This record gives sequence, C-alpha cells and structure tokens, in this order.
Amino acid sequence: MTRMKPLLERNEQFARTYTPLSLGLPAAQMLVVTCLDHRVDPAIVLGLQLGDAPVIRNAGGRITQAVIDDIAFLAFLAEQLFGRQGPADTLFEVAVVHHTQCGTGFLVDPDFRRQAAEATGVPEVTLEASAVADPHLTVKTDVERLLASPLLSPKVSVSGHVYDIATGHVTTTLEARYP
Ligand SMILES: [Zn+2]
Repeated sequence: MTRMKPLLERNEQFARTYTPLSLGLPAAQMLVVTCLDHRVDPAIVLGLQLGDAPVIRNAGGRITQAVIDDIAFLAFLAEQLFGRQGPADTLFEVAVVHHTQCGTGFLVDPDFRRQAAEATGVPEVTLEASAVADPHLTVKTDVERLLASPLLSPKVSVSGHVYDIATGHVTTTLEARYP
C-alpha cells in the first residue's frame, strides 16, 4: 500500500494540461541550491516554472563535494549543448539559499551530533559540515567554498540568499560573483 495515491491523482490533473519541454538552457539562467526541508520548496517560494532552473537540494542546502560535482557537470553540459546560444562569457548563476529554523541546526550540539552519528552511521564530521545554525554565516561560507573550487566554470557566477521561514521573504546576502 502506497501513500502516493493522492499525489498520483494530482499528477493526473497536471498531465491533462501539460506541454512537454525540450532540453534547453534554464529559462531563468539560474541554478538553485537549497535545503530539502518541505517548507522551503523553491518552486513555490521563488515561483519557478518547469524549465526555469535546475534545483539541487540536500540537508541544509550545503555546498558539498557532490553538489560541486553536479554543478561542474551541468556547466559542461550547458557549454557542450548550448554554448553558442547565450552570451559567450556566461552560462548560469548559482543561487545558494539557506533558511532560518533549519533542522540541521540541532547538529551544532555535540551530544545531539554524536547520537545522530551513532544511530545513522554517518560520520560526525559529515553531520557537522551540514549544520546550519546561522544561515547568514553558512551561506557566506558556502558561496566562498563554491567560488574557490577549481571545478567551477569561469562562466558560472554564484550568489547567496537567506529565506526567512517566519516571513516568507528571501533576502540577498551576497551579490553574484564570478570565480
Ligand atoms: Zn533546512
């Protein structure tokens, strides 16, 4: 028995008026990295439509090596497939969006972190790296981490933002910069 039934009914509604999209550059020329929290869905918070922007989500919306690898591949793909369509020197902007009241904030507490590591088998250092206690601080750390990566294409810019769960507002912490 799956709980997907009501969601599949919503999908039936969706498919009724659906028009397929061909693979192309993201219409918004953006890529969003954000938390997997179900209160911060960027399609709703940022009004993204199908084809607007790839979205990478993990706990905290942190710039991990896996996220850097995905961004490097997407930049390569965009360059190979569509490099001649847009301006020669730009591909897309990566917006890193962290949020207030993030569940990863509990991981700042060493006792909680140790218990989580023992229960899940995830190394403590990995859990610590995903913690977002102050989103204004972590978003800066992560924008710098991505800009410093040798894997980041020089045609990709990076910006930082914070989503406030209490108000629904997203504010820009760091304007877009190239590596
Ligand atoms: Zn979160």
